[in-house]
Amino acid sequence: MIAGALDYRLPETVREATEQLAVEPRDTCVIGGGTWVVPWLASGERTAGRVVDLRRVAELRAIRATDDGVLFGATVTYSDLVRGDTSAGPLRLLALMARGVTGGVQIRNQGTLGGSFVAARPSSDAPTALVALDARAVVRGPGGERRLAAVELLAGAMRSALAPAELLTGFELPLQQDGGIGYVKLKRGASSWPLVTAATRLELDSSGRLEAVRLVVGGATATPLVIDVSTVLGSQGDVAVLAEVERRTSAAVVEPYADVLADGSYRAAVAPVVARRAVAMALADARRDRSGERR
Ligand SMILES: Cc1cc2nc3c(=O)[nH]c(=O)nc-3n(C[C@H](O)[C@H](O)[C@H](O)COP(=O)(O)OP(=O)(O)OC[C@H]3O[C@@H](n4cnc5c(N)ncnc54)[C@H](O)[C@@H]3O)c2cc1C
Repeated sequence: MIAGALDYRLPETVREATEQLAVEPRDTCVIGGGTWVVPWLASGERTAGRVVDLRRVAELRAIRATDDGVLFGATVTYSDLVRGDTSAGPLRLLALMARGVTGGVQIRNQGTLGGSFVAARPSSDAPTALVALDARAVVRGPGGERRLAAVELLAGAMRSALAPAELLTGFELPLQQDGGIGYVKLKRGASSWPLVTAATRLELDSSGRLEAVRLVVGGATATPLVIDVSTVLGSQGDVAVLAEVERRTSAAVVEPYADVLADGSYRAAVAPVVARRAVAMALADARRDRSGERR
């Protein structure tokens, strides 16, 4: 139970939500799905005099194709992605990620991608997948709208770069060629939190050589790490590609993240293996695509 009275606001438009947030931003708490913030308010870990609950803002729950890609709202849930039409395009990787989120149907139905992103927990699934897709975050505040690379919204472990009066309204995903995707995470048990995650998307040319690859590792450092694997471009042999992916990931994790679930040396040691598995999965997926098996 939340002790004390709250000024509870239930806006129906983004404009109303930003206006209500701007009244007293430092004393206001935004609720997306509330799976984190409501328990925080109940336990006293977070205090606020006002809350702005986004559940009735239909435009924040929408997913639509644009000329440049896909735009989806901050309150899109994991279940929206799992149930939606995600057979092609950038949403395919998000749906693959969303299917693996633990916590059961309640968390998948209520937890939002925007809430996960703003909470900025290093080993959360959504930030890694969104950064791998080169997502741009759309942010609305009293000064208007701004767009920035989603990774720039993550200021550190559990710290977003949103100003107190700003609302995350959604993400833009650029158009991408079909190719291969991979999403892999390491966790201690089936229902536990991820420790380290890796998301990748890649393209093969007509002779099966790697033409483009983007690899992001989460949970190994405070914010998702984009691994430079450009040295594998043009390669064809999986053994050499995967060995290079491991080497590059190992070299990139210089300041590993540590928490009660795993210390930094463990995360640094497993990150290359998780990255390797994600790339192997994406290579197999890309080959299924080329052979027509995926359609
Ligand atoms: C039992 C359990 C299991 C879980 N398992 C996993 C798992 O396997 N993988 C994983 O990644 N996550 C997992 N989670 C976490 C889950 O993904 C998050 O709780 C959820 O995504 C957060 O979204 P939310 O909308 O509920 O956030 P909320 O609780 O509503 O908000 C979280 C934070 O973001 C802020 N916020 C929310 N929306 C906005 C917005 N649009 N603009 C500005 N600020 C905003 C809030 O003020 C708050 O600070 C689990 C959680 C639980 C409880």
